[in-house]
Amino acid sequence: MTQHWDVIIIGAGTVGLPAAVFASGRCDNVLLLDAAPEIGGTLHLSGGQMSAAGTRLQKERGIKDSAALHFEDVIRISKNTVDRDLVRLAIDNAAATLDWLETIGFQPLPAHPVKGQDHEPYSVQRYVWGKDMGKSILAVLKPQLEKVTEQERVTLKLNTRVSRLIQDDDGTVSGVVASTENGPEQNFSARSVVIAAGGFAANPAMYQDLSKQPAYADYSYPFCIGDGLTLGLDAGGVSRGHENVLTSFGSVMQSYDIPSKVRCDLNHWPERRLPWEIYVNAHGKRFIREDEPSVDVREHCLQGQPDARYWAVFDAVTLKEAPSLLAGHTAGEIKAAAVNNEPMFYTADTITELAEKAGLPSGALMDTVAAFNDGQAKSTDSFGRSHMPRPINQGPFYSVRAQGISVSGAVGLMVNQDLQIIRNDGSPVPGLYAAGEALGSGATMGSSVCGGMLVTPALTFGRMLGQHILPLD
Ligand SMILES: Cc1cc2nc3c(=O)[nH]c(=O)nc-3n(C[C@H](O)[C@H](O)[C@H](O)COP(=O)(O)OP(=O)(O)OC[C@H]3O[C@@H](n4cnc5c(N)ncnc54)[C@H](O)[C@@H]3O)c2cc1C
Repeated sequence: MTQHWDVIIIGAGTVGLPAAVFASGRCDNVLLLDAAPEIGGTLHLSGGQMSAAGTRLQKERGIKDSAALHFEDVIRISKNTVDRDLVRLAIDNAAATLDWLETIGFQPLPAHPVKGQDHEPYSVQRYVWGKDMGKSILAVLKPQLEKVTEQERVTLKLNTRVSRLIQDDDGTVSGVVASTENGPEQNFSARSVVIAAGGFAANPAMYQDLSKQPAYADYSYPFCIGDGLTLGLDAGGVSRGHENVLTSFGSVMQSYDIPSKVRCDLNHWPERRLPWEIYVNAHGKRFIREDEPSVDVREHCLQGQPDARYWAVFDAVTLKEAPSLLAGHTAGEIKAAAVNNEPMFYTADTITELAEKAGLPSGALMDTVAAFNDGQAKSTDSFGRSHMPRPINQGPFYSVRAQGISVSGAVGLMVNQDLQIIRNDGSPVPGLYAAGEALGSGATMGSSVCGGMLVTPALTFGRMLGQHILPLD
């Protein structure tokens, strides 16, 4: 039996929650479907870092900012690789989203907004997150959804995965086919359907296919397996963003499996800890000045190395005297991990043995260490590094392997300014909308990690779809 709805939203996550809440202000017949057993999607894992210009908070703190300046920063950081129109739409409407979140109880950390953390900084303090990261956002969205489900304006069906869109002969999307696990397929018809089903980073095969590199990390929301992209493409949509694939500058993985969980992060930010180690690639060669100040430069440099991977190499004195290389690990713990042959940790009495244990070419590593030590003695470095407190010459020697990883997929569906999925010729697929990571991270971040430019556009587009874009009146 087919049930009819004003709008069906596929995914009760970052996009889907505000979309449903705002749509319910204009109609009382919203169906929100999620494959997972709970709402929230990637907000359960996300840093929840958001960027918006011209917010109430900024004004209260006397910070001068504008959407034009935010746009300029995104273009600078991404080197103009984003979808400019979409970014402008997101940025022009971001402050209203942040202001709304605060109205419903979201509290940024006390010292916020800031210019940035972990990623390339903005020129102005416009970056915020809550104490529980993405969960701080979910905590304020959840009661909003509960209110409208209690009022029966929104019907929420969990454990319900959409497998197909229903299309009329002229291509108009008029509903979805969904089912619970082992349950029968059910048809739901609607005037509009919103794809808010997230990205594909939890689908290793799809990630490999679209990104041309393995999904190294098991770090994404397990239900984000690319259904949104598949549904949109099957309906006539087109994908883009293959060229925007970028990994982080390195995490230490728990195991050699691909994908693997992340054990910890390597503290590679020179503004927090100047490097004492050298970083070498699979050829045993350095590829960057380790104190390179731009995280964006570091990330792009690593992207060009074999398997987006490098080894930090250091000696016993550095282990003892330097601040810890690894987040949450003391020197003693690093030593113990290496001595116990835990994955990614290596130690040996000589550089040659270290290379063998770490799977690096020993001759090349010997030459690299010798060249670095020579430069250190002369206070010059072939890569222009300025922080070289000591040579690497006191055994035992150590190495920790770091892996570039992605938590989101760069590729996604093309949409127009009304967030309608468009075909190759630019015409919209009638009745079909999309937002969030289903558009690909490249749409709003380009080939960069541009602070807050996934969560904020996802929330903003969800809000806008519900508030005025969807034809509900
Ligand atoms: C560890 C991590 C940290 C991050 N940190 C940040 C950050 O600090 N700032 C930032 O801007 N971005 C960050 N991101 C990215 C950002 O959080 C996501 O891009 C964004 O939350 C995605 O929102 P979404 O609504 O598109 O997807 P989601 O919030 O994941 O929602 C998608 C929903 O769709 C459901 N679904 C999937 N398929 C189906 C189907 N077939 N039928 C029904 N339901 C389905 C899923 O269960 C899920 O609930 C981070 C991501 C990760 C993984």
